[in-house]
Amino acid sequence: MNNKTLKVLEALQLSTEFLEKKGIESARTNAELLLADILGCSRLDLYLAFERPLNEIEKSKYREFIARRSKFEPLQYIIGKVEFYGYNFLVDKNVLIPRPETELLVEKITQIVDKNDHLNILDIGSGSGNISIALAKQIEQCSVIGIDISEEAVAVANKNCVQNEIVDKVKFLVQDFFTIENGFINQKFDLIVSNPPYVAEKEYTTLQEEIINYEPKIAVTDFSDGFNFYSAIIKKSNGMLNRGGYLFFEAALGQSEKIAASMKESNFINVNVIQDYAKIDRIIYGQLK
Ligand code: GLN
Repeated sequence: MNNKTLKVLEALQLSTEFLEKKGIESARTNAELLLADILGCSRLDLYLAFERPLNEIEKSKYREFIARRSKFEPLQYIIGKVEFYGYNFLVDKNVLIPRPETELLVEKITQIVDKNDHLNILDIGSGSGNISIALAKQIEQCSVIGIDISEEAVAVANKNCVQNEIVDKVKFLVQDFFTIENGFINQKFDLIVSNPPYVAEKEYTTLQEEIINYEPKIAVTDFSDGFNFYSAIIKKSNGMLNRGGYLFFEAALGQSEKIAASMKESNFINVNVIQDYAKIDRIIYGQLK
């Protein structure tokens, strides 16, 4: 990829081969998505432009992107964006990349809540703001507060709020959940949702290189057994939820029974576990008695 003419198809072929050699899965798709981002077109549009030559700026940007991806930097951080629940979100290294499994959490909430009521929602560990913003978009009458310990994450979430034109319904605050006071904003909630850092410290090193080397560690692990946030949220939500209010979690692998049992012990009824498309227990929810 030096100074000679380089056309779309050739660029894709060379970079796919390179990424494959480096051990990147779905190398061709990665190569296409990165080039499509640079050219400002869709992946499919590339197929109609195989003969289009890349100019010097495009070439050098593509070289940079491919080099970064070859070092296992997640594609979403390189292009700086991801789609979640049909909405566009900016992402950078300060926030966890929203996962498709988490869309199920949003979907279930929107199916279960009563859409005729006005709902006060709290999202704990809001990260990029994906859950808060998707819920605010989907539930007509609601106010959402997202809290996150990371100032940088809250800054990203605020940008996403503006980008998705939902500032009147969603507010993000820098807040450590473990030191939060019960009446911290003088109100109770109808629904608390969280996709907390749930990987146990001892499992952290077994995760993919993309995660370990690039995603914020505090968004992934609780530096303990993976249960810290669940137990703290279950306990504190008793004082933060209205009666009949919902608590919704995304569950850690293998932790669903423990979470459900702990919720039942702590005053929650109608506790349910929902599996994702891979048949993994993924969503747990219940209602405060
Ligand atoms: N709420 C964000 C998400 O679900 C961030 C979660 C986190 O940082 N643990 O994707």
